Formats: sequence, C-alpha cells, structure tokens
Amino acid sequence: MICREAQTRKADKNMSGNALKDTKKLQASFVPPTPSAPDTAQEHSETANQKHIRSIADEITEKTFQNVSLCYQCGKCSAGCPVRFYMEVAPNKIVRLIQLGLYEEALNSNTPWLCAGCLTCSTRCPNSFDLAKFMDAVREVALEKGVEVGERDILNFHKAFLDQIKHHGRSYEVGLVADYKMRTLNLLQDVDSAPGMFVKGKLSVLPHNVKDKKSVKEIFEKTSIKKNQTPL
Ligand code: SF4
Ligand code: SF4
Repeated sequence: MICREAQTRKADKNMSGNALKDTKKLQASFVPPTPSAPDTAQEHSETANQKHIRSIADEITEKTFQNVSLCYQCGKCSAGCPVRFYMEVAPNKIVRLIQLGLYEEALNSNTPWLCAGCLTCSTRCPNSFDLAKFMDAVREVALEKGVEVGERDILNFHKAFLDQIKHHGRSYEVGLVADYKMRTLNLLQDVDSAPGMFVKGKLSVLPHNVKDKKSVKEIFEKTSIKKNQTPL
C-alpha cells in the first residue's frame, strides 16, 4: 500500500516535471500578436464613428454643464412628457442613444424638435438631470452638424422667434407670425383667428423694443451657431 502511494507520488512528480518542460517550451515559442489596423471598411467606419460619438457626448456635456451619464434611464421624465405621444423616440431614449454613441438615431429623430421645453422632465428627474437643457443642446448640435431637420416648420418657428428677439430685444407677435408665414408659405393658416386676437389686445401692431438692442445683438453674434463644424 505504502509502496503504491510512493509510486503514484513519483509518477505525479514526473508528470508535473514534464508539464513544466512543455509549458516552458510553449512560452519560448510564443509570439505575442501585434496590434493591427482595422481590416475592413466597416471596422474603419466603426472606429471613426466611435471617435465622433464620444465627441458629440462631450459637446453636449460642455453645452449643458452636465454629464449625459447622470441619466440612469428610470423613464420618469418620459412618463410625464406632454408631447411624448407625438415623438418617434421617448425623451429618455434620446439620452440613452447619446450615451451609447448612436448619434445618428438621436440627431435624426423628431423628438428634440417636438420638445416644447416645458421643463416637466427636468423637474421630475430623481437625479437632477436637466433633460430640457439636454434637448436644447441636441438641437444645437444637430444644426451645427448640418443634420437635415425633419420638422422643418418647427425649425422655421424657432428661427422666426429668434429673429424677433434679435431685432426688438423681446417677442413681437405680429412680426413672428409674418416671419413664420414667409418661411413656411402657410399664408392662410390660422388667419381667421387674427381679428379676434387684435380686438382682445393679444396682438399689438407695433413692436415694443428694449432700450439696449445693441447688447442683445452682441449676444446673438457671440452665440450664433457655426454650421457644419464637424458634419455627421
Ligand atoms: S427622469 Fe432623469 S434619470 Fe430618469 S430617465 Fe429621465 S433623465 Fe434619466
Ligand atoms: S421639456 Fe421637452 S422632453 Fe421634457 S417634458 Fe417638456 S416637452 Fe417633454
């Protein structure tokens, strides 16, 4: 019995000695793989996209002073959004797309353009993520990248509104309506409601300008969007 145990131990010792030799041989012959450049066009494209994706997330972080990773996708924002029903993608999913680097899906969606900036989402967020501000930044980035905006009339409304602020320093409804109609060529849309609004004093014929219009213009000059900085 003792003899058999001794033989077994000896055999084990021999085996482990052989295994050790084999391992050393393998280690000596091992050539570590050298990192190679991406082989296919798809890999090239993915690498380029990943770089671009990160930069878009960074740009949004810089514009909003909040990290997109703060959102942990609880969905409370979308549950309270009054225009969620009309959006292609839920507001929290736009954040998720940016987090994942799927920037084309995020920027091409109509969601940022349908966002009314009501701040419901921002006030409901348990992690204090300002989703309304995030949506603003997504729209801005989309314009900078030259993304074709599906909701053209909404973009025209934004432009018409900002033109009034730029020229008068505050909103001028008649100018806004005229500007919007010229941009969209929807000349007769809602035209029947104008007389009633004039009678009730909701529309004033002449604009009320702020005193320091020059400062307002300077703000516009400093903050104007530089198009196609890095196209998609
Ligand atoms: S409520 Fe806040 S944390 Fe939750 S999904 Fe919306 S943005 Fe993200
Ligand atoms: S700010 Fe925009 S995304 Fe947020 S609840 Fe309002 S409409 Fe929805």
